[in-house]
Amino acid sequence: MTDTPADDLKPSFRSDVTVELVKHSAADSDVLWAARVSTAGEQSLEELTKDPERSKGLINYLMRDRHGSPFEHNSMTFFISAPIFVFREFMRHRVGWSYNEESGRYRELQPVFYVPGEDRKLVQQGRPGKYEFVAGTEAQQELVERSMQQSYIQAYEQYQEMLAAGVAREVARAVLPVGLFSSMYATCNARSLMHFLGLRTQHELAKVPSFPQREIEMVGEKMEAAWAELMPLTYAAFNANGRVAP
Ligand SMILES: Cc1cc2nc3c(=O)[nH]c(=O)nc-3n(C[C@H](O)[C@H](O)[C@H](O)COP(=O)(O)OP(=O)(O)OC[C@H]3O[C@@H](n4cnc5c(N)ncnc54)[C@H](O)[C@@H]3O)c2cc1C
Repeated sequence: MTDTPADDLKPSFRSDVTVELVKHSAADSDVLWAARVSTAGEQSLEELTKDPERSKGLINYLMRDRHGSPFEHNSMTFFISAPIFVFREFMRHRVGWSYNEESGRYRELQPVFYVPGEDRKLVQQGRPGKYEFVAGTEAQQELVERSMQQSYIQAYEQYQEMLAAGVAREVARAVLPVGLFSSMYATCNARSLMHFLGLRTQHELAKVPSFPQREIEMVGEKMEAAWAELMPLTYAAFNANGRVAP
């Protein structure tokens, strides 16, 4: 049986995602001292503030020539709330990432579901590997919204019925769809984030275009905005060098 108030069990629908930078130790200076240890040894920390133009040039050189390891000496932890289908894609990124996700075994899953917003292009045109998305008609939008909501509501009712009958959460959750929101902490460093952004965002400066699903791109865009503020020189060098992770 559940002790959750009845109001929390009413399905709600979202078209957006949550991304919050909850913890960080990440600055351009982290890249510089790591790189300068090769030539300045222990003195590298003192070199940091000496010449800003040189620092900018060094970061750009590291990015251009793909000397990647100096970009690993930093850390960012994000709280992310997004549909399960986004997390399935997200967790394919194995290197330089740590994840902890809410449990469907130890807690009752809340009825928050994804429904695409009006600006989400619904129709795919072209062949695999060479296609584009275009806006849906009003009828398609209405159909998507109605179908998703109906099916989410029905699935959640069945979930509740099983829990009320004493079925374990880990068994009952099998009826819940991938449009259900989940939440996780994801920790990365600038290098692993750049690799992620190169694959999961579309950008006019990208040397190697990628075609990510819009919903994971929405998460990526928010992470990118937070990271750009923490490490502006690294971010600028990433863009200037075609958004390819070093
Ligand atoms: C647009 C798009 C469509 C996709 N479609 C599909 C799909 O249809 N089906 C599907 O299964 N996946 C799909 N993926 C996922 C994709 O195949 C990768 O799993 C995902 O992008 C993570 O990339 P990664 O392995 O480079 O990242 P990470 O796991 O973070 O690895 C980073 C880098 O480390 C190195 N590395 C990591 N592990 C190994 C290893 N075992 N051996 C050698 N080198 C390693 C590689 O250089 C790799 O690039 C898709 C991804 C994108 C962006």
